[in-house]
Amino acid sequence: MSADLIRCQNCGRTNRVPAAAKGTPRCGNCHQPLPWIAAAGDETFAEVAEAAAIPVVVDMWAPWCGPCRAVSPALEQLACDLAGRVKLVKVNVDEAPNLQQRFTVQAIPTLMLLRRGEVIARQAGAMPLPMLRRWVEDALAHA
Ligand SMILES: [Zn+2]
Repeated sequence: MSADLIRCQNCGRTNRVPAAAKGTPRCGNCHQPLPWIAAAGDETFAEVAEAAAIPVVVDMWAPWCGPCRAVSPALEQLACDLAGRVKLVKVNVDEAPNLQQRFTVQAIPTLMLLRRGEVIARQAGAMPLPMLRRWVEDALAHA
């Protein structure tokens, strides 16, 4: 399983954060929740996204897609703002034809919110950070 280096927003310590884990990642130094951002593909989606202990924002994107690149920093900021509450999973649809077909992704970026493996909201097209945050919080409050 791959792991990314994530800097703790609280104390600045760099932590190795695995793409999939039980519970949610916390800083080894100060124990605050860490932002959780991982990539998944056809083979790893079940483990990385569907089995996650917290809700997952799935970003279906492609490297050639301008709006995808534009929304990416907002999604990463959202993962930082909602550390410990929401995990961000990025799926490059060019490398995940099965997921693209399964979720009938016709436009990218397509954003989906998963809770315990179930899609509770989805949205095609990019949004600025305040709208993204409202979309996630409304969906979690009402689903
Ligand atoms: Zn820390």
